[in-house]
Amino acid sequence: MKIKPSSIVSEELVTSLSGVGPQMALKLAKVHVHTVQDVLFHLPHRYEDRTTVTDLGALLPNLSTVVIGQIDLCQVVFGRRRSLVVRISDGTGALTIRMFYFNRSQEKSFQRGLWVKCFGEVRLGAKGYEMIHPEYRVSKNEPKGGLDTSLTPVYPTTEGVSQALWRKITDQALQTHLPRLQEFVDVDCLPQEMQGVYQSASLQQAIKALHRPSLGVDLANMQQATSSAHQRLIMEELLAHHFSLRKSRDAREQELAPVLIVDDSTNNTFLNNLGFTLTRAQTRVSAEVEADLAQSTPTMRLVQGDVGSGKTVVAAAAMLQAASSGVQCVLMAPTELLAEQHFKTISGWFNAVGFEVGWLASKTPAKQKRDTMERLANGELLVAVGTHAVIQDAVNYKHLGLVVIDEQHRFGVEQRLALRAKTPTGQVPHQLLMTATPIPRTLAMTFYADLDVSSIDELPPGRKVVETVVIPAETKRGEVIQRVMAACQAGRQVYWVCPLIDESEALEAQAATDTEQELKDTLLGLRVGLVHGRLKSKEKETVMNEFRNGDIDLLVATTVIEVGVDVPNASLMIIENAERMGLAQLHQLRGRVGRGSEQSFCILLYQMPLSQHAKLRLKTLRETNDGFVIAEKDLEIRGAGELLGTRQTGSITFKVADLVRDQHLLPLIEASASKLAIKTPQFIEPLIDRWIGSKEEYVNA
Ligand code: ADP
Ligand code: MG
Repeated sequence: MKIKPSSIVSEELVTSLSGVGPQMALKLAKVHVHTVQDVLFHLPHRYEDRTTVTDLGALLPNLSTVVIGQIDLCQVVFGRRRSLVVRISDGTGALTIRMFYFNRSQEKSFQRGLWVKCFGEVRLGAKGYEMIHPEYRVSKNEPKGGLDTSLTPVYPTTEGVSQALWRKITDQALQTHLPRLQEFVDVDCLPQEMQGVYQSASLQQAIKALHRPSLGVDLANMQQATSSAHQRLIMEELLAHHFSLRKSRDAREQELAPVLIVDDSTNNTFLNNLGFTLTRAQTRVSAEVEADLAQSTPTMRLVQGDVGSGKTVVAAAAMLQAASSGVQCVLMAPTELLAEQHFKTISGWFNAVGFEVGWLASKTPAKQKRDTMERLANGELLVAVGTHAVIQDAVNYKHLGLVVIDEQHRFGVEQRLALRAKTPTGQVPHQLLMTATPIPRTLAMTFYADLDVSSIDELPPGRKVVETVVIPAETKRGEVIQRVMAACQAGRQVYWVCPLIDESEALEAQAATDTEQELKDTLLGLRVGLVHGRLKSKEKETVMNEFRNGDIDLLVATTVIEVGVDVPNASLMIIENAERMGLAQLHQLRGRVGRGSEQSFCILLYQMPLSQHAKLRLKTLRETNDGFVIAEKDLEIRGAGELLGTRQTGSITFKVADLVRDQHLLPLIEASASKLAIKTPQFIEPLIDRWIGSKEEYVNA
């Protein structure tokens, strides 16, 4: 348990609260609540309105409400599942209460003519509105009024910690500890527009307002978070995260990394052998990276560039800089397919300049693996490419100076942590992160404060924009299949991407196998191949090679081909159930075509009904090919939580802030943080501790 001497409140452990013993303390620790201060900062994630009674005639589906009605009927119904059904009415309308778990005494309590007051979510059932397992109370006389007088807080929780317990301990914390809560953010350091907000609600008032909303505050107000109480807490939370990232950057800058110097003649040979000239954007970004690596401060640079913008060669140039300096470097890719493609490309380039490239994946034969590992450990091998196998415990490096992580959004936080743990004492490796999912501008300054960012914002010459169409599968799938035939007969190659099945790789593989059979049966004469996650890596490799060599016309695949695969002659892609996939993923998939000189097409097949979000996603893809625009849209549609989640932060979760809703505050954070760092540096650590606490390790991973 960590204890910081920053303030009295933060020292006191939860066990000092009544109702919290050692067992409960362990459960609370799971949601990062260790101290009484943590209890105060464990804010409700939503509220329920149990204050007003809604007439049964005025119910709306999917809302949680309090209703009052008189029992007309109570019976046990034997449908697909046995259930207790209670029908109530109030003169304006009626409602069915349904329970699947009930006992005899419950059944008996619902007598015709008695009154029921209940709270639950209204759903549209087969026979009108229903509530399933509502909270309820039966009474003889007509009850009046709601269940609570103000909004009811609902706390994020974990197994074995009830809402009642949260209320109990927050009550105590509010009573005894809130008055001692210290302000850490100096109003004078905030921009003008925030100062008014700060003065109209103190920190203590704000914390209180979120735990125990005042009488008369309504649900919409709480959700929109526009009150002064909300705004000041959001500001503080954003500041805390920003400081935490700055701290990690500062810590990194205290460390030492090897100084890597480009060998001009090797580098020129490498560039001259590529068979193409770097674009201006590649040259610029390469120069930025080169300058970083020549410093003794560890680099942490994110290189963002749209699919096909040519990130690999930029990574390779950096690796060459390391190898020519006699220092080891490794490139890690998220899938075996992609790692292998990189291995081929990079070995091709590096062998020509006299560097051998080692290969490491989990399925590499044991003997070969042992051999590679031995040579990495004794420093004989300077360059390695692989999957996350390259960072497994057993792999040791003599002198690792550069780590390149391709498609970094696919790697989780543990893997990043593992990499850091590999660091030999004394020096740490430079890190280069490559991503095709750019960071929206609004987030970059505040939430990537620990990284430097370079953008390859230009595609190699001659690329044609992929034309995207959105088509309903139900009526047009047959036509699409014929279009595949026509494309293949014209000498083109085609990808057919099968639906994403979240729960199971096995089901996904099965669906792909069925589709392959169907297409084989329909498209007689075409050479059809299949790749999915269940295939052995050798089998996958064979199929991919056949496709690359043009021995397969149509490749049926699951989303394993999402990242990086490069086959220029493929100019048509069909994506089934496109409505199920995220924007970034669809954009990545689409990036597999449009890599050659032919006009390419992407057909997004969808199944009805389309959700509002799915409609927006498909529309966005049809309208633009620009990954930067797509990233901004993605933020708008989906919210920032997930976007950041795909970053290294594991699960960055906010207590009050919502990066989409609160976007307008982001530009204020950096400047305020700088002022605070000068005026009240002693409060930075306590502020981070209060808002992020023990999760910090992950945020900074
Ligand atoms: P991504 O940024 O998606 O990782 P890649 O590095 O895989 O892109 O490059 C995509 C394709 O473009 C590769 O076939 C690569 O050889 C080619 N390429 C990269 N840079 C250039 C360039 N400057 N001119 C022409 N082709 C290039
Ligand atoms: Mg790539």
